[in-house]
Amino acid sequence: MEDTTALDISLFQLKQGTSSDTSVKTLTRFYQDGIINLRPSYQRNEVINRKKASGIIESAILGIPLPPLYLFKDKEGKLEVIDGQQRLITFLGFLGRLNDIKTKLNGFSLIGLSILNNLNGKNFENEHFKFTLNEKILDFTIKTFTFEEEKGFEPTLKYEIFERLNKNPFPIKPNSFELWNCIYLSNFTRMIKEIATTDDYNYGISRRAPDSLDLRMDSENDILRYITLLRNYEVLKERNDLPKSMMLQEVERHFSDKTPKFEIELIKKEFLKILRKSRILFGTSNVIGQLVNDNERRKTVYPNLTLMDVIIVTLSDESEKFIMKYRDELLEIIESFFKDEDNRSIIQNSKRGSARITNPYSDRVDYLKSKTFDVIRQKYGIEKSKRINIRDLSLVDKLMEKQNGLCPYCKNQIKITDKYEIDHLQSVDDFGSNEEINLAVLHEICNREKSNKKILME
Ligand SMILES: [Zn+2]
Repeated sequence: MEDTTALDISLFQLKQGTSSDTSVKTLTRFYQDGIINLRPSYQRNEVINRKKASGIIESAILGIPLPPLYLFKDKEGKLEVIDGQQRLITFLGFLGRLNDIKTKLNGFSLIGLSILNNLNGKNFENEHFKFTLNEKILDFTIKTFTFEEEKGFEPTLKYEIFERLNKNPFPIKPNSFELWNCIYLSNFTRMIKEIATTDDYNYGISRRAPDSLDLRMDSENDILRYITLLRNYEVLKERNDLPKSMMLQEVERHFSDKTPKFEIELIKKEFLKILRKSRILFGTSNVIGQLVNDNERRKTVYPNLTLMDVIIVTLSDESEKFIMKYRDELLEIIESFFKDEDNRSIIQNSKRGSARITNPYSDRVDYLKSKTFDVIRQKYGIEKSKRINIRDLSLVDKLMEKQNGLCPYCKNQIKITDKYEIDHLQSVDDFGSNEEINLAVLHEICNREKSNKKILME
């Protein structure tokens, strides 16, 4: 843990890479024109086997995104492959263009395809490929991060990136907050880092012991996961698990500070609310961990991630007041719920490291709710709360556009630095709906003034 941690990560942030989508056609041209060096000295000359290479081609035909390429561009404009060598060799090999590398992969035919199995035995020159699939492969794009010497990227750092992507003891995880944080530093990633340092996170839902070191930004990675899940729940609820590509998308969406600050603040505020609810309910010890522990031999208790997803979504739906009022009873019910092996497997159904989840998020969330929160609701005859929550954040954008950025109460502009709230034109108590048509964004002070007036009038 000595000199590997000494590298200041801000070195990368100073020289953020540029990212683009590069087509296989363009990459092939780079290679043929001698612009791209596939095998710089620090690269391992690892040969990818034909079955794995076939799988990559199948992904391209199906349009499934591949992990990004990392390139270094020197002052002369030459490119070096820091990471992604095997993917490039696969494409060049399949196209039969690998002229300066000795490999059996040049012009290979596909084997072992599971989905497009009618293509097994075919190669790029095969009649079956002509006109139909060739273009698809040539037009396929791979996300490419380029670190440019011209833009001040220190060439020796490429070894660091390479080492960290590939080797122990501290490899950067290729699809992780740790890496995206280097490339996409923004208000959004800053906000996630802020959340990770809060007490509410550390006590509320953190999966690690409060005092343990978190060099790998695992906490931030988890937080990004939960926020991505909540913000894209409508799309994700029928899925079993959260794809990493969606987390990257979420980071990219907020890159370059394109997202208004008020929206970032709102995401933070709403997420902290969930953490607070968790803290109210579970207290300050690692109760969730003990409840949903998936490995009893471990000293530290890590709850399963997919199970935490379900808990977070569930909490986002509940009101703080409700949890506060019935917390003792709720906790008792929740504890016995998780003691039951069947219950656990219904909403978890996966083991650490090998997620094999069979039912979608919505089923698991509904199941947990019906066996816990709804039990209390029925017992005391409480209506389900109708609240605006973090899942509806895109709504703020829509509303602001409709209002031309003006506050309907005071008619002044709502600036991105202003505090604001979403208001129901007809209140929920009067059966007002959560539909867009019944909602408006108001300055926080205006919203308070408005509700005070209403109370005075009543
Ligand atoms: Zn106002």
